Amino acid sequence: MTLTGKEYRAVVLSDKKKVSVETREAPSLEPGWVRVALAAGGICGSDLHYYKEFANVGYPLKNPVVMGHEASGTIAEVGPGVEGLRPGDKVAVNPVMNCGFCPACQRGEANLCVKKRFPCSAMIYPHVDGFFREYFETQARLCLKVPESTDLYRLAFAEPLACTLHAVLKLGNLAGKKVLVTGSGPIGVLAASAVRAVGAGFLIVTDVVDEPLAIAKTMGADAVLNTKEKKLAEALAEIGPVDAAIEASGAVPALLDCLEALRKGGTMAQLGTTPSGGLSVPWIYFQSKEINVLGSSQFNQEYAIAVNLIQTGRIDPQPLLSRQFKFEEADQAFATAGDRHVCMKAQFIP
Ligand SMILES: [Zn+2]
Ligand SMILES: [Zn+2]
Repeated sequence: MTLTGKEYRAVVLSDKKKVSVETREAPSLEPGWVRVALAAGGICGSDLHYYKEFANVGYPLKNPVVMGHEASGTIAEVGPGVEGLRPGDKVAVNPVMNCGFCPACQRGEANLCVKKRFPCSAMIYPHVDGFFREYFETQARLCLKVPESTDLYRLAFAEPLACTLHAVLKLGNLAGKKVLVTGSGPIGVLAASAVRAVGAGFLIVTDVVDEPLAIAKTMGADAVLNTKEKKLAEALAEIGPVDAAIEASGAVPALLDCLEALRKGGTMAQLGTTPSGGLSVPWIYFQSKEINVLGSSQFNQEYAIAVNLIQTGRIDPQPLLSRQFKFEEADQAFATAGDRHVCMKAQFIP
């Protein structure tokens, strides 16, 4: 039995704060493709930007698009030639649709693929429809099958966790090291859990809002700090400078905190999305302290690692899951997702 030609519901963004549930017709499946029934779709910071601005990091959307890229689900239907996946299989869906052939793909760096497509991204045109749909079609190779016992709500955290693992693993061996994470949003907190998983000796997480910091504490931070109340330098007076920092907020004051808190020769990863314009940062730090900076954008093999960490329970993202919404509650979902006092991560469940 095929769903081809049947209609399904989708969360479509057509302008600033204009989100609606529309129907789409299920296309026939190409060879190597599958149809996935969405179980849970996490609302990402980028989805929030698109909702508020109809743009993200300076790139406007050119036409209405189905939102979402953080998804788990079950296989509904498989196209010709698909092996290893059957209807009913639970899957995590990697949204990085790399080409597989360019020099970056050949090096194993799918995140740097020059022909990469990504759901609901203004940087890619024609835009690719996202995963906030009852059903969506994707390549079988991007679906990671998980055991039947896997909780699909937790599994939808694989994408943001993979983003953070990319930064954490780029920083090298953090075992026993002192680590700072600036920003306690979902990305900062998942980065903290990853830093904890690789055996850091001391982990401090900073933010300017208390509620998310409390969650960072439950996810493994040794110390949390609201930098509105106390300066990071004061908080680190006894502990001393950190060996590594992960900037997960995109805020310039937090970036400066990283540069100041790092020891000489320390390394930081820029994981948060900074404002698209120029930044005023004292360049002297890089020379005088020999600070190394690593950029971190999306992920490669880390997606499979994230799926494994969640599926085995070694990282449990449950404390981050604040609220779940039906598609019809989209406006409420985005309003809630944008309030850091009450919401860490909101999900759509169709
Ligand atoms: Zn995301
Ligand atoms: Zn490529």
